[in-house]
Amino acid sequence: MALEEYKRKRNFNKTPEPEGKLTQASSRARFFCVQKHLASHLHYDFRLEHNGVLLSWAVPKGPSLDPKTKRLAMQVEDHPVEYGDFEGVIPEGYGAGIVMLWDRGTWTPETDDIDGALKKGDLKFTLDGYKLKGSWVLVRTGGGYGGRGGDPKRTWLLIKHRDEWAGDLDIAEFAPRSVKSDGDFEDILGEKAPAVWQSHRPAKGGDAGAMLEQIIERAAKLKDARHATNAEDTDKTTAATKKAAGAKRTSTTKKAAASRKTRK
Ligand code: MN
Repeated sequence: MALEEYKRKRNFNKTPEPEGKLTQASSRARFFCVQKHLASHLHYDFRLEHNGVLLSWAVPKGPSLDPKTKRLAMQVEDHPVEYGDFEGVIPEGYGAGIVMLWDRGTWTPETDDIDGALKKGDLKFTLDGYKLKGSWVLVRTGGGYGGRGGDPKRTWLLIKHRDEWAGDLDIAEFAPRSVKSDGDFEDILGEKAPAVWQSHRPAKGGDAGAMLEQIIERAAKLKDARHATNAEDTDKTTAATKKAAGAKRTSTTKKAAASRKTRK
């Protein structure tokens, strides 16, 4: 598998996404990430590094820590490994919207034969991310959902195995922000000029469209607030904000650890 489909779908003169090249396998741990992607529909792109690319699945509802909740995962085109660090706004074209790096870390297959497991449609693995940990499985279903291009081979389920990291905590709701910037969608969008964004709105209707409207509004407010702050004593404010953000992050992590401990 190479990156032809990834490249065919994108115009790299118009998108900030990396153009990408095949990355040779090395002895370092395998990378995984989850990118929360607000496009025509909100979804979570689950990516596992394998053979120099990121194998990719779009998970509409995001991963669930509850072993009873099987999440639909549509396999999409392989992405370049450097895409795994991408966070930003895709102003137009394929996947237009906002990408947030929602989780990242390393993954370990529970088999030596990854290609065999993929072919069989049953890949068991362990995740060590900030938000997702422990044992998981991707299982290909017989189809029925159709999927992109109507290819039933692309339809999988992402399921948490029962272990100390499983539980009924709604992780998408509990930890909605970026592991890269600690920002939410509006913060990521706010770094760009919302005025430019207005004319390139990808989603016009539906839930994602409504969500995007709200985000654009909030982003504009954030931007105004930042300008106002800059006019004041910037150094003091930034230091205070950073301190507050750090404190908040720490308590969130502790809370997550605590709630994980209480669930068995
Ligand atoms: Mn996506």
